[in-house]
Amino acid sequence: MLSPPATELIAKLQRAQLLYTVTDLLGWDEQVNLPPASAGQRAEQLALMAELQHAAASDPRIGALLAELEQPSAPLPAEQRVIVRQARRDYDRVTKLPADFVREKAAHSSHAYHAWADAKKGNDFPGYAPFLEKHLELARREAAYLGREAAPYDYFIDQNDPGMTADVIGAMFAELKRELVPLVRSILQSPVKARTDLLRGCPVEGQRAFLREVTERLGFDYQRGRIDVSLHPFCSGTGSDTRMTTRFNVDEPLDALFSSIHETGHGLYEQGLPAEFVGTGLGMHAGMGVHESQSRLWENQVARGRAFWRCFEPRFREIFAAQTAAVSSDELYLAVNSVMPTLIRVDADEVTYNLHIILRFELEKKLFAGELAVRDLPTAWRAASKELLGLEPANDREGVLQDVHWSGGAFGYFPSYCLGNMMAAQLWYAALAARPALEDDFARGDFSQLLAWLRKNIHSQGRRQDMGALVRSVTGAELSPKALMRYLRERYGALYLG
Ligand code: ZN
Repeated sequence: MLSPPATELIAKLQRAQLLYTVTDLLGWDEQVNLPPASAGQRAEQLALMAELQHAAASDPRIGALLAELEQPSAPLPAEQRVIVRQARRDYDRVTKLPADFVREKAAHSSHAYHAWADAKKGNDFPGYAPFLEKHLELARREAAYLGREAAPYDYFIDQNDPGMTADVIGAMFAELKRELVPLVRSILQSPVKARTDLLRGCPVEGQRAFLREVTERLGFDYQRGRIDVSLHPFCSGTGSDTRMTTRFNVDEPLDALFSSIHETGHGLYEQGLPAEFVGTGLGMHAGMGVHESQSRLWENQVARGRAFWRCFEPRFREIFAAQTAAVSSDELYLAVNSVMPTLIRVDADEVTYNLHIILRFELEKKLFAGELAVRDLPTAWRAASKELLGLEPANDREGVLQDVHWSGGAFGYFPSYCLGNMMAAQLWYAALAARPALEDDFARGDFSQLLAWLRKNIHSQGRRQDMGALVRSVTGAELSPKALMRYLRERYGALYLG
């Protein structure tokens, strides 16, 4: 039973959340549908929504209700403590940052984005460097407003993955690096080579039909969501209305398929969060790394596996009969699991992807520690790329200028991708232990057992626990790279190192 202040707090939080869903929808529409000359009005709409959202989230009544509910004399039931803890975190963030600072950061992010886009086009890192320096200065100030001036990088990591720190991540990434670099080297020395140019001229209509069948079978509820096309694939919205996007290339049908399965993993998580508590800690995802664990689990452990292809290969061949006529099952499966280091993170396979993240994490950490100056980033990037990927970018476009994240001041975001990969592998083995016949289910086209397991253990949990505690309680082990290395060795070892 909820007390009156708890009921009132939830109503306030859910009103702020509802405003957020409107903003989110405007953002989705901007990426998917917006006519080119309509951007001006969209910017005004978004600015108005930001104002309304800020007013709702910083409502002083929320502060009063929190103070009342936090009275040490009247401890709350566990579920309500989750709501109050998360609401406090969000309320402090919106009320402790001065309005001037928020405006300055927003304006700078817009300028820095354009400076980055120009610098990338012209391969001009020095033109962008002052904007990045300013972002770092703003980041330090932001951390200080929240009382985290002693460890500003940890503050940003915690924004994405509550409870996580640079030291904890650093230790895990160091272990991963030690094991992963030699594995990649031996895969590259293997006489087995994947051909990624096997499937040419696969019509978009066929691709669209196939990925719709696949994602529906995985459990995505199209009564409460949809998939459209955008320049960069993403998933937005909530469980009540989940919007996914993909993009098509007739010569790369696996791209649209796997990006759709990835976004489906995000979408399934959103659709599985407790709807009645949306906008509160009980109805909220547990952080970016946990979110990413859901997308990667479906994309990699499930959809790059033999059982998945046993189920879907016949239909794939039926739709693309001409394009697959000369392709054997083994060739197709190898193409699904190709490993080839690339300079560009977004083009990376699931094995080498982690090395791209380790590179960015190590550089971000040094930037915040003052051990690396922005002007020295390109050199540091090239050296790290050589060490980790065995590849040296010929220019900064293929190096330090490739990602958009830093131009928006999004620090501490990259690690979530790799944390998600580690957690996905741990969940995979835990799910297999709970149901050893999981892959037989997949081969028969039944993915409901895995989804049910995730619904129970992850989705329905909301933000009751942070990533570390969640992994511990579901898998019985600490979050670590061990399961990821085991999984990569099993899958890629069998293919390449026979
Ligand atoms: Zn993702």
